[in-house]
Amino acid sequence: MAKVSLVLFIAMHLSCLFVFVVPFSLKILALAAFGYVLRMWAITAGYHRYFSHRSYKTSRAFQLVLAFLGTTAMQNGPIWWASWHRRHHKHSDTPDDTHSPRHGGFFHSHVGWFLDGSHDRADLSNVKDLVRYPELRFLDKHKWMPIVSYAVMCFAIGGASGLVWGFVVSTIAVLHVTAGINSLAHVWGSRRFDTKDDSRNNALLAIFTLGEGWHNNHHEQMNVARQGIRWWEVDMTYYSLRVLSAVGVVRDIRERKPVAKPLPLAAATAAPGRAPAPV
Ligand SMILES: [Zn+2]
Ligand SMILES: [Zn+2]
Repeated sequence: MAKVSLVLFIAMHLSCLFVFVVPFSLKILALAAFGYVLRMWAITAGYHRYFSHRSYKTSRAFQLVLAFLGTTAMQNGPIWWASWHRRHHKHSDTPDDTHSPRHGGFFHSHVGWFLDGSHDRADLSNVKDLVRYPELRFLDKHKWMPIVSYAVMCFAIGGASGLVWGFVVSTIAVLHVTAGINSLAHVWGSRRFDTKDDSRNNALLAIFTLGEGWHNNHHEQMNVARQGIRWWEVDMTYYSLRVLSAVGVVRDIRERKPVAKPLPLAAATAAPGRAPAPV
C-alpha cells in the first residue's frame, strides 16, 4: 500500500503540470476553488473537528456526508485519519507522535510519515466510537469510490480542464495545506498557551485552512469546536458550524472553557521550554 500511495502521490503532483496544456477559463478556476473550499471544509469540520475530536453532534446521515466529502480529498478514510490524529494529540511532539517536526524532521511531519508505509494501518483501539458504523468502515476500505466519483464529476463538468483543475490541482492544494498544520503549525507562529508541545498560532495558515491555523489554541483545548479565540482570529469552519447549528443540521457544539492562563506577551513567540522563567 505504501508503494501505491507513493506512486499516486507522485502521479498527482506530475499531473498538475497539465495546467499548461489544458484550456483555462474562469469557470474552470471557479470549479477548482469550489473543490478546494468544499474539501478543505470537509477535512476541518468533518475529519478533524467532528470525527477526531467530537466537538459537536450531528445526524448519522450528515455524518456520512462529512465522511464521503472528506474521503474525496485523498487523505484516506475518516477512521484512519481520526486514529492517527488522536495519537498526535496524545503524544504531541514526543517520539511517539504521528508526525512531529521535532523528532522526525520537517519533511517527515509534512508528508513523509504517510508515504514511508509506517502508518498504513491505524490502531483502531482509539476510534471505537467510529468503527461501530459500518458505512464509515466501508469508506475507509473503499476510499477510491468517493475519489473516483469526484474526479468523474469534475470531468463531466469541465472535461480535461475540469479534471486537472477541479480534481488534481485542488486535491494537491488541500493535501499540502492540511499537511502544513502538522508541519508548519508546529514550527512557525506564536504561542499563546504554554502547552507541552510545539504548536503555534499562524494567521496565514488559518486563512488557507479555514481556521485550523490557530493550532496552539487548538492544542490547549482540543475538543472544542472553536479554534480562533479573539474576534480577529478568523475561523471560517467555526462560523459555518454555527450556521449549520442555527438551521438544525448540527447540534451541541462544544465551546471553549475559560480555564488556561495565556502566556505573558513577551514569552508568546518564544519556543517551548525556552520561555522566560516566571519571576
Ligand atoms: Zn498539532
Ligand atoms: Zn486536533
